[in-house]
Amino acid sequence: MGDGEKKVIVLPRHIFRQLVNKSKTNLPNESCALVFSFPDDSLIVDRVIFVKNISTSPRTEYLIDPFELLSIEEKQTALGLELMGIFHSHPNGKAIPSKTDLLYSVPNLYYLILKLDQNSNTTAVKCWSLANNKYSQIELSVL
Ligand SMILES: [Zn+2]
Repeated sequence: MGDGEKKVIVLPRHIFRQLVNKSKTNLPNESCALVFSFPDDSLIVDRVIFVKNISTSPRTEYLIDPFELLSIEEKQTALGLELMGIFHSHPNGKAIPSKTDLLYSVPNLYYLILKLDQNSNTTAVKCWSLANNKYSQIELSVL
């Protein structure tokens, strides 16, 4: 992808629904999942795989077991897919990265955050790039 081109992550609607439904079943805890795409520049989410949130404060943060991550990534890579990002939900927050999210982020992944507002029953998903303790929003399109 050239420097001047705008990045747009494409999230197919059936995967968006899967993210919302599964995240609702994990309430009041945060959910987390690995996001895979084909290793091209299209940035289309091909599949998401939910993983355990092993954080000791799962209502306000998430933590992924690195061994589980590596094992899933290995299997998906063998199927021709690439880890493009990490998904997690914010049950009582906004769809923006928290301080802990920034702390544990790596620069070459996209971070998808789903806001689940339990009072208004609304959802919103946003995509972020996190690096050097800063975040910038990446356009995301649910199609
Ligand atoms: Zn978070």
